[in-house]
Amino acid sequence: MPELPEVETTRRGIAPHVEGREITEVIVRQARLRVPVPVDLVDRLVGARVGELARRAKYLLVPVSGRGEAGTLLWHLGMSGSLRIARLGELPKKHDHLDLVFDDGAILRYHDPRRFGFVDWLAGSAERDPRLSRLGPEPLSDAFDGERLYALSRGRRLAVKPFLMDSAVVVGVGNIYAAEALFLAGIDPRRAAGRISRERYDRLADAVREVLAAAITQGGTTLRDFVAGTGEPGYFKQRLNVYGRDGQSCRRCGAELRLVTLGQRASVFCGSCQS
Ligand code: ZN
Repeated sequence: MPELPEVETTRRGIAPHVEGREITEVIVRQARLRVPVPVDLVDRLVGARVGELARRAKYLLVPVSGRGEAGTLLWHLGMSGSLRIARLGELPKKHDHLDLVFDDGAILRYHDPRRFGFVDWLAGSAERDPRLSRLGPEPLSDAFDGERLYALSRGRRLAVKPFLMDSAVVVGVGNIYAAEALFLAGIDPRRAAGRISRERYDRLADAVREVLAAAITQGGTTLRDFVAGTGEPGYFKQRLNVYGRDGQSCRRCGAELRLVTLGQRASVFCGSCQS
């Protein structure tokens, strides 16, 4: 499933090929995505120009202007979506649902076997859309730190792992990165959020930044895959310490990693390194 680092890598991978380009054609092969492709999307986009791509949480924002009303494409990759750059004449494969064709012959092609992703049109200011306006800060921004985690968690009995995965607290910390960051910070994922010290939250905020930045850096090595036309671009396997490793031994102390369910999500941790 595409997480924040994959979406960021996607943004970096496709931006040089689409920014400043004029859209000459829009091909919708399958409109029934999680949110149906807006019926007027083709009219809105043909003849318009793409601005600077942005990312917010796991949303890719593609600003478009120049012809009709200016607005933003809000793109979400869902469970299995991916975007890549194809060239004119390159035939679509199964599950290639939507193409944006540009004036230089490049094609931004959306592929999504499970169709949990979507592309929607936001008129005017994108930040006012409720899907974006309610989000907490970006984990790699200055607005996210141990002080915020500490302040928001006082009095809360919720376990720290689901607390960290709450997008009102901080966006983009999915199951993999929450588990890995808690391991790095030495915090038991079951511990009540309200009973963790400020000092430990400083360590946790640093750990969140560390695991996400490492994933984005590693994703950078796959940037050429956005135009290579082979495989699924942007998805990469990090060396993980705990996620998906229950029953295996801890890389730090050798103890057997344990599995618990927290907030309906599988959570693997080391009972001796994390307390
Ligand atoms: Zn351990």
